[in-house]
Amino acid sequence: MPDMETIVSLCKRRGFVFQSSEIYGGIGGFWDYGPLGVELKNNIKRAWWKAMVQDRGDIVGVDAAVIMNPQVWVASGHVATFSDPLVECKNCHHRFRADKLKSDACPDCGMRGQLTEPRQFNLLFQTHVGPVEDDAAIAYLRPETAQGIFVNFQNVQQSMRRKVPFGIAQIGRSFRNEIITGNFIFRDREFEQMEMEFFVKPGTEDEWHDRWRDIRYDWWKRTFNIRDEHIRIKVIRREATTIVGPDPDDVEQEKPPHYSKGNYDVEYKFPMGWSEVEGIASRTDYDLGSHQKLSGKSLEYFDDETKEKYLPYVVEPAMGVDRSVLVALLESYQEEQVRGEKRVVLRLPHALAPIKVAVLPLARNRPEIVAIAQEIAATLRPHMMTVYDDTASIGRLYRRQDEVGTLYCVTVDHQSAIPSDEKYDGKVTIRDRDTMEQIRVPVAEVKDVLVAKLAS
Ligand code: ATP
Repeated sequence: MPDMETIVSLCKRRGFVFQSSEIYGGIGGFWDYGPLGVELKNNIKRAWWKAMVQDRGDIVGVDAAVIMNPQVWVASGHVATFSDPLVECKNCHHRFRADKLKSDACPDCGMRGQLTEPRQFNLLFQTHVGPVEDDAAIAYLRPETAQGIFVNFQNVQQSMRRKVPFGIAQIGRSFRNEIITGNFIFRDREFEQMEMEFFVKPGTEDEWHDRWRDIRYDWWKRTFNIRDEHIRIKVIRREATTIVGPDPDDVEQEKPPHYSKGNYDVEYKFPMGWSEVEGIASRTDYDLGSHQKLSGKSLEYFDDETKEKYLPYVVEPAMGVDRSVLVALLESYQEEQVRGEKRVVLRLPHALAPIKVAVLPLARNRPEIVAIAQEIAATLRPHMMTVYDDTASIGRLYRRQDEVGTLYCVTVDHQSAIPSDEKYDGKVTIRDRDTMEQIRVPVAEVKDVLVAKLAS
């Protein structure tokens, strides 16, 4: 596995991720996705939406506002308890999360015994709504997308005539004023989440919790092609925290969050160690119950068949898009030796690759070659993400495309385009990223061949 610096450097050099507001020195915990990053991110989001919404009959989507009535965050517990313990080093004045420190020495200046007593630091970002900046106008940027689903539970259930069990999915931005950010896009202050709240009949939640653990574990493995030794499940119960999968002894004991009766965390083996990429929480009726109490509106569900009325229980798979982008890059990055030279190749799964095909004219000063190459690119564009590149020698162009995971390169050469060339065949070369195998295909068939390859 590559180290983090390798991935950070690749991301900047090749247009995946840039530091936010870089020309002003950046801003900690915020990142901008570049042209390739946004494609990769969109592909991951599409894969999730397809698996969670389109391919199933029992989940529908919403897209709720980032800013909600502040009472939402009172009911959810975030205003009172969404905090981390903050300590400050009296010597260098740097701040840390007390629960992440291994000793009483400052991680930055090394001074022992200079850390202040921990105080609870609330992670909610505050803003004001409307022209008056008084306390009555305080609002929060959402720290999770889940609450936008809970408060719409009845709207969705009734407008879509849904019967429990069913789910509501959402992709969107969340904001947390994390004390310490870092490890690139792993921990940000603005990030994207993909969350799904699955509403079930009380008493069936354990069964659904296990089922969602299996579905989500499979999705991660399949979507990112993750090796068995890089993924595991952390089982967090009130009694104990245990690991199912690799490195079972490498585990810190923790308690489920305040809203959960138990969590399964999907963990990935990042360069800095095993860390959460998705939490699958058994949220009971905590959220619907709290909103019902504070709003005074009944959120109960009436089951037509059994004539029972109840607050559904909830199982929630919640993942971070940015962390999954990092997983995609780390898991796909490979360096290999090809004819004595280092080849860097991003073996991204087909569905995730930002660019599916690059069209490369072998000689940019030959109008016949350029004309055919441009025509092929134009034919391919409506069908797949296509780039055209004539800015370097062919060896260099191949290396650039390998490094960003482009699945196929189409090369137009003299033999393809110049009838007076003695080897003229009117065919172009299609090169496969993974095998580097090259086939010759008539110009008119390039689109069909590539569409068929992508479909398989
Ligand atoms: P952590 O323990 O790492 O802070 P968490 O348990 O607070 O995470 P959840 O509240 O369960 O995280 O959020 C669900 C998912 O959202 C996480 O698995 C992660 O992928 C993503 N996520 C949470 N916080 C951040 C963040 N600051 N930056 C990027 N992604 C995040």
